[in-house]
Amino acid sequence: MLEKISQKIHWLGHDCIRIDCDPVIYFDPYEIEPGSRAGIILITHDHYDHCSIEDIKKVLGPDTVIVTEKDSGKKIKKEIGDMVEGGINILAPGESITVKGISIDAVPSYNMDKKFHPKSKNWLGFIVNIDGIRVYHAGDTDKIPEMDDFKCDVAMLPVSGTYVMTASEAADAALAIKPGLAIPMHYGTLVGDEGDAMAFSKALEGKVDVKILSKE
Ligand SMILES: [Zn+2]
Repeated sequence: MLEKISQKIHWLGHDCIRIDCDPVIYFDPYEIEPGSRAGIILITHDHYDHCSIEDIKKVLGPDTVIVTEKDSGKKIKKEIGDMVEGGINILAPGESITVKGISIDAVPSYNMDKKFHPKSKNWLGFIVNIDGIRVYHAGDTDKIPEMDDFKCDVAMLPVSGTYVMTASEAADAALAIKPGLAIPMHYGTLVGDEGDAMAFSKALEGKVDVKILSKE
């Protein structure tokens, strides 16, 4: 079951994930090549490497719907509001929306011991439900207590350290969330390298299945 969904999940570098379901879903497009048009674009927060207007434009179609938090929403509306004909939906942590048959839960995403992503900003991770399979994109986060209550089948977690969890903290997060499959991200572009993804995988050996995606 997870084999099928995992084949549809593509890592385009950093925190950008594309899921080839119907509709095509992008998370945090950044430094990508123009590709399949997005049915839905999810933006976790307004840092330049997550809310990149230039990259959003590369996959924006005539009916693309954007789902994000208030700060990114403001930035997108100001810069390309008139181009986003499908609409821009703003969520806070704990809120949900259904777009084109995909239910999307906005969940908290913040730092515990660093200042880059304060809890007070109400920035987001997302859990999307694709044909009954729940796929979680964590955004820029540390391991946070709310993760104990997240229910998902696939968890895509940052592993680079510095602005987010280290590989070992991310492994602890995976143990708290207990997904069927964990995928490391947020390495290889600005911070972190493949060694972090390997360390994450090694720490979860025999406990949680890990798939390290090749950058496309
Ligand atoms: Zn950030």
